[in-house]
Amino acid sequence: MLEKEYLELADLLYPNTKDVNYYLNKFAPRVTSGEVTRLAPSPTGYLHIGQLYQALIHRMLANSTGGIFYMRLEDTDNKREVENAGQIAYDMLCRFGLKPDEGYRGDNMTEIGDYGPYVQSHRLEIYYAFAHELVKCGKAFPCFCQMAENKEEILRRREEELEETSDLEVKDPCRNLTLSEIKEKLSKGEKFALRLKSSGTKDKTFEFTDEIKGKKEIRENLKDDVLIKSNGIPVYAFAHVVDDTLMHTSIIVRGQEWFQSLPVHIELSKALNLPVFKYAHTPSVCVLDESGNKRKISKRKDTFADVRFFLEKGYPVEAVCEYLLNLLNSDFELWRKNNPTLHYFEFPFEINKVGVTNPLFDFMKLNDISKSIISRYTAEQVYASLVAWATEWNKASLSLIEENKDVLLNMFAIDRGGERPRKDITYFSEVLDLYN
Ligand code: GLU
Repeated sequence: MLEKEYLELADLLYPNTKDVNYYLNKFAPRVTSGEVTRLAPSPTGYLHIGQLYQALIHRMLANSTGGIFYMRLEDTDNKREVENAGQIAYDMLCRFGLKPDEGYRGDNMTEIGDYGPYVQSHRLEIYYAFAHELVKCGKAFPCFCQMAENKEEILRRREEELEETSDLEVKDPCRNLTLSEIKEKLSKGEKFALRLKSSGTKDKTFEFTDEIKGKKEIRENLKDDVLIKSNGIPVYAFAHVVDDTLMHTSIIVRGQEWFQSLPVHIELSKALNLPVFKYAHTPSVCVLDESGNKRKISKRKDTFADVRFFLEKGYPVEAVCEYLLNLLNSDFELWRKNNPTLHYFEFPFEINKVGVTNPLFDFMKLNDISKSIISRYTAEQVYASLVAWATEWNKASLSLIEENKDVLLNMFAIDRGGERPRKDITYFSEVLDLYN
């Protein structure tokens, strides 16, 4: 296709979009020189312990560099959407002391910040402007296969090719459609998905330095991945590059499951003439399965995957955060020993000290930390925390607690406040049994 045909095609596919420079100028670089981090959950479930672990990194990085931590809601997968999940995620971040400075704040609150909207479903016109730009430069093309009658066949063939060659070279047949063929399909009302025209070369690699994984040799992208689905909704890769560019995220901290699609993300940034992000892919918090192998904490198998578990149990939120910091930076423990009274936000967190191996979630260790934290509470603090816990999770026990306030306070005061305080309480849901 000729250059002017690409422009015509872009106008046909994405009419009336603004120039990308409009957005690049509108969302000018931030004034902060600190790290700009974000948690970008999809509202497909409650806040997962793995997301809390990520959020802690974001908050710590922003705090230690005088930067900004914001929240973006990635609600582009409406099939898997769970009602209220965005709200719950935001509320949980706040409950665990990791309130974002900017962005989405729940469904009924206006968002804060100059880089919004922070909910992806409200950003479609921005994505279309960037899609227009890609088509105009000949770097993306419409694919009609999804809607074609032989869709199943095409998908099956691609899968086979993928298995046979295992080199992930999946050039889409629609990349060779002529402008008039495309026009004909469009005039018939055929729906299209937008695909990246990948430019990678087989067996070619490039060097990439991940802030956690270090230097890595990465294969060029060979896949004509979908960028915008036929329902007009962008996929993660495309929305990530557009949003994190315009919101000026300075470091993309995310789970290592995204590492394998990194070549596409890098190619996309380059195709749009944008600088490639700094990335940090975090290890996954794991548990041991029945046969003693490590596996990721699973929503289905592990009740504590949902962070509300820790609140219901009555762990102090700082115990959970401190425990996660232990998993993240191995020198946290020593720092805590030397600085028993400082808030953990004072810990000089460093992203490149995050280990590369998947840590195991160890309740014994969490319980130790929790016991130490509660042992430093005054008797009044223990009582107040118990009341707060019961008010939320066990109203039936509230009157018993209140009727016995003096007795409880006296008992909590035993061996408290000295050099070696008594460490008997692990979480507040066990107090009534313990002190029965
Ligand atoms: N919405 C993505 C997720 O929930 C975000 C990944 C990222 O942090 O970039 O997995």
